[in-house]
Amino acid sequence: MPQANPKLNAFPVFLRVEGEAVAIVGGGGEALAKARLLDQSSATLRIVADAADAELLSFIAVTGAIHIAVPYDAAHLEGAVMVFAASGDEALDRRVAEDARRLGIPVNAVDRPELCDFFTPALVNRAPVAIAIGTEGAGPVLAQMLRSRIDRMLAPSLGPLATLAASFRGAAEKLLPKGNARRQFWGSFFQGAPARAVEAGELSQAHDAAVDLLLSKAPVAGHIALVGAGPGAEDLLTLRAHRLLMEADVIVHDALVPEAIVAMGRRDAERLPVGKRKGCHTKSQAEINALLVELGKQGKRVVRLKSGDPLVFGRAGEEMAALRDAGIAYDVIPGVTAAFAAAADFELPLTLRGVSSSMVFTTGHDLKGNSLPDWAKLAISGATVAVYMGRSVAAEVAGRLIEAGLSPDTAVAVVENASLQNRRRFHGTLADLPSLEARADLTGPVMTIIGDAVAGANFERSEPLAAHSHESAANAAAAEVEP
Ligand code: SAH
Repeated sequence: MPQANPKLNAFPVFLRVEGEAVAIVGGGGEALAKARLLDQSSATLRIVADAADAELLSFIAVTGAIHIAVPYDAAHLEGAVMVFAASGDEALDRRVAEDARRLGIPVNAVDRPELCDFFTPALVNRAPVAIAIGTEGAGPVLAQMLRSRIDRMLAPSLGPLATLAASFRGAAEKLLPKGNARRQFWGSFFQGAPARAVEAGELSQAHDAAVDLLLSKAPVAGHIALVGAGPGAEDLLTLRAHRLLMEADVIVHDALVPEAIVAMGRRDAERLPVGKRKGCHTKSQAEINALLVELGKQGKRVVRLKSGDPLVFGRAGEEMAALRDAGIAYDVIPGVTAAFAAAADFELPLTLRGVSSSMVFTTGHDLKGNSLPDWAKLAISGATVAVYMGRSVAAEVAGRLIEAGLSPDTAVAVVENASLQNRRRFHGTLADLPSLEARADLTGPVMTIIGDAVAGANFERSEPLAAHSHESAANAAAAEVEP
């Protein structure tokens, strides 16, 4: 399970400095560094230095900062909104910090965290947009590294674009109803024609494009994204899935999708759990189809979040048919399917040169009756078989495959909760597989992989399946997950 985030001891805020004074006490390099940082703001800099060095003097000359060129006195701090004790002299810095505190002004003392009310961040400046990076003084090198990485990610035109956005805010609030329409306007503003024009340096063209966007009366069209959430680990989500989650109005999700992934969605998105665990379907498939159609008709941007890949035992076929029939736009975002996650957890090659060159995705629920389904024949001819929802039919699957000619010694790998920290791995043979049905200790989703390629897996961290073969079948948990 992911750990809860530890608490921040210093909380980032943006302090208004326009038209305010910031006092910096010190005449050397430390004072200059702080002065340069603060010079990125519109604050008036008040530099208290009776012996400023040449570089600081030239900074003061160029920027027009106020220079108080007499020995420090507490009165120099009065009226400032922030104070920096940057003299390099411990006793003086301490005095400055004490004076500031007495005057009720937050203070930062260079290299003396114990004297600091606040810390200065590493700053990515795209005014009016600012990204402040803090490490609570623990890692200035780390902060600078992150700073340059983020800096590279952001277009230099972000600042002017944000300024243009600010000038449209009032009009957007007046003309567009709160919610979807307004969000779509801003989405197109920041990703569409206005953004492209600002990037090209065409500010008046950007303005016109924004006006066009604002006045277009096109009805807001709904859209459903059938999104694969992957096997459970949050960081196995695709970047596209993550972006869509952050843009969604509504997230319709299955029970198998962990809360942590649903929580990655937009904070004010509506979240609709729709099942399903065996024995407690909260909604029928027909009801889910109708829900998606209805949300689409309302103009909502919906993420239909399914575990693994949406097109693998996810009943996406039925949902897509319903959406097509209703004329609702949709698309499909693939995810890491459980078989791949289980194979990765076992370091198990699903295809193995000279051993297995095909693979089968099955549920094993089609083995009733007399005729063997095609996949069983494939298994016998060497395919690797991934069995979804296979726990309650483990004995049936093993029995029928053995009966049809697959060796009882064929290797089998089983993973419960693949990709998650609480995953469990079991290895054995086809002859051991029936024991799976009786295990009451497996309450999470279980993936079974059968075939000679399984022999190429790493069994160092797995338990033998056979160890449990005598447990009572009556204890079997009824929590198997269905599509
Ligand atoms: N669309 C999903 C499958 C849904 S069917 C996908 O592509 O993975 C549900 C079955 O998937 C479960 O019964 C189980 O067999 C398998 N499954 C899903 N998540 C799993 C996980 N984390 N570990 C093992 N099996 C999993």
